[in-house]
Amino acid sequence: MARIAFIGLGNMGGPMAANLVKSGHQVLGFDLAAPVLKAAEQSGVKPASHASQAVKDAEIIITMLPQGRHVLTAWTDILQTAAQDTLVIDCSTIDVESSRKAHEMAKAASCLSLDAPVSGGTGGASAGTLTFMAGGSDEAFARAKPILEAMGKKIVHCGEAGAGQAAKICNNMILGISMVGVCEAFVLAEKLGLSHQALFDVASTSSGQCWSINTYCPVPGPVPTSPANNGYKPGFAAALMLKDLRLSQEAALASGASTPMGAEAAQLYALFDKQGNGGRDFSAIIEMFREKV
Ligand code: NAD
Repeated sequence: MARIAFIGLGNMGGPMAANLVKSGHQVLGFDLAAPVLKAAEQSGVKPASHASQAVKDAEIIITMLPQGRHVLTAWTDILQTAAQDTLVIDCSTIDVESSRKAHEMAKAASCLSLDAPVSGGTGGASAGTLTFMAGGSDEAFARAKPILEAMGKKIVHCGEAGAGQAAKICNNMILGISMVGVCEAFVLAEKLGLSHQALFDVASTSSGQCWSINTYCPVPGPVPTSPANNGYKPGFAAALMLKDLRLSQEAALASGASTPMGAEAAQLYALFDKQGNGGRDFSAIIEMFREKV
């Protein structure tokens, strides 16, 4: 059993912290939003009045926050109180540059650090089946692995500081592009008089197969568990897909990578978001293609 501080108990952090409690860890939590902290208390997380109170006696600190600036603010605060050799893990999806800065801050405070963003959404967070992609030293990864296993089913060490974030934004750029492609194919099929089921039966077992069609089909029917069958309730919100595509484009610009399809997907999701769809599942973008972009 470890003493763990968990900062950021929102849609993802809440169920992740609850799974740590279920595995027998002692979890002290903090969130700026009082109702969120109260909800976490119901799953056995001990509420702290401030981040520094949560981390004071912690062996491991986990942050699950919206963006890079939130992580850097929280880590500045946390690292003033954390004991030397504490392992600090950031599971948020943030830009590679902020992630590397956070690692440097931890090193200066003589703490170990890991970036470990996740894939699997709120469903995976609740079920404890997340995939973690980690960046950091072998020592940090070895210490973090048993803790991450309480929240996920696949833990991949991707490389040094920032490598987890790099893997996450590359993966989600593939996802954004493939979802746009699958949605376009269903809209074309509709115009050609081909049924959704017929396209699904062919493409899901042919060279068009991918997660966006096989598991997360953007039309109701063929995959009963996909958000299309539930009014496009997320799932994975379009605003979060836009955030990840923007992160991929910032990284492409900074590193000089050519990602024209990623850039196009980012623009399409920006338009979809601007039309008021940021809170809907990202597969709902099919509706925008039915109306000619
Ligand atoms: P969320 O908005 O539900 O939760 C974030 C929480 O952080 C909020 O409750 C907020 O009050 C709290 N917070 C912000 N600044 C804080 C601070 N300084 N100290 C303490 N608490 C603070 O967001 P979420 O959906 O849980 O996402 C968290 C991260 O996980 C994001 O980076 C997101 O991109 C990533 N992610 C989300 C999903 C998903 O499906 N929701 C999937 C994979 C990755």
